[in-house]
Amino acid sequence: MKDSFFAPSAGNTGQVECYIVVGMIAGAAHHILNKDVVCIEELCLSKSDNVCKFNLKNN
Ligand SMILES: [Zn+2]
Repeated sequence: MKDSFFAPSAGNTGQVECYIVVGMIAGAAHHILNKDVVCIEELCLSKSDNVCKFNLKNN
């Protein structure tokens, strides 16, 4: 079972599922950087990617 210990509880759904993590990263970045940022999950284990990859952008 590949990457099972990192797999989100949602399982393999074919789309990104880490909305909670995305929200936490965006919230933390907002506090740390004191500006509005958006966090986008580009890769996700639930989408059959090898990793979850998050990208932060200025809003
Ligand atoms: Zn993910």
